[in-house]
Amino acid sequence: MDPKSGSNLSFILNKPHDVQFSDRPVPTLSDPHDVLVAVNYTGICGSDVHYWQHGAIGHFVVKEPMVLGHESAGTVVAAGAAVSTLKPGDRVALEPGYPCRRCGPCLGGHYNLCAAMKFAATPPYDGTLTGYWAAPADFCYRLPDGVSLQEGALIEPLAVAVHIVRQASVSPGQSVVVMGAGPVGLLCAAVARAFGATTVVSVDIVDSKLQFARSFCATHVYASQRVSAEENAANIKREAGLEEAGGADVVIDASGAEPSIQTSLHTVRMGGTYVQGGMGKSDINFPIMALCLKEVTAKGSFRYGSGDYKLAVELVASGKVDVKKLISGVVPFKEAENAFKKVKEGEVIKILIAGPNEKI
Ligand SMILES: [Zn+2]
Ligand SMILES: [Zn+2]
Repeated sequence: MDPKSGSNLSFILNKPHDVQFSDRPVPTLSDPHDVLVAVNYTGICGSDVHYWQHGAIGHFVVKEPMVLGHESAGTVVAAGAAVSTLKPGDRVALEPGYPCRRCGPCLGGHYNLCAAMKFAATPPYDGTLTGYWAAPADFCYRLPDGVSLQEGALIEPLAVAVHIVRQASVSPGQSVVVMGAGPVGLLCAAVARAFGATTVVSVDIVDSKLQFARSFCATHVYASQRVSAEENAANIKREAGLEEAGGADVVIDASGAEPSIQTSLHTVRMGGTYVQGGMGKSDINFPIMALCLKEVTAKGSFRYGSGDYKLAVELVASGKVDVKKLISGVVPFKEAENAFKKVKEGEVIKILIAGPNEKI
């Protein structure tokens, strides 16, 4: 790894299904608080795949070629003069979005809601599937000795889950139903367990995902049927022993799918909490009467904020969330596009791309 070589191989999306590898300039440390990180591993996220397939998510449209990727861990190779917390050789998880630090949401402790956020692989900003990445030192989280760089690449989706479970204020002894058993749904279930939830139900339409959820963290699983949302909710309550309580204390939707969201509102108990973490269609048919009659607390959740990355690292370091189990495979940098295909086809839970500095 030598940034002086000038080579900064990057995986770039030109337009939908049109990708290329090319050298980008090695970033310079423009701020004394920044560090330069050689990227070792990057996980692929649903949003990366969406840009690759469609070139846009909502009003974020890829107009110029954009480097993909935002779930990365790497090794510090240079530190600015004002950096006191990191040094070359430190292994870090990269938080990939940089807020302005000056606006109302930033100063109010909700920097994930900053309107001026510069987030990796969200147009017009480049992502982390690149050789070298410059970042403010306080957005790079040192990995303890027992945590590998591969696990480090899973800190990003874990931080998403930490934020969702915090939004839900999950507390010891509670029952939590998680709709969707993709990476974020699985991690929400695992974090809920770590927060002390005693009943954690994973719900999905794919049996193999539910089998994995059971081995990973769920106390109960439920395969959604092609019946009404009310019927699915009644089945979940019966199978997870939640009938007496009238439903779950907390329901998290990590799917973004309309039927799951409807089922969520019928599964939560009177006075319970529902958090929307998954993103799907922008507008859906929503059972607002159930929300009202049960006096449900409903919240959204977007990315991660103060303390979420730090806690995610601690959950991995303490063994409370075993993110290694989610890694289905690791591919060399030059096979990045293949990895995207595998994620799109749903063959994998989480696939990592090594490098380009990491040889596998
Ligand atoms: Zn992601
Ligand atoms: Zn801001």
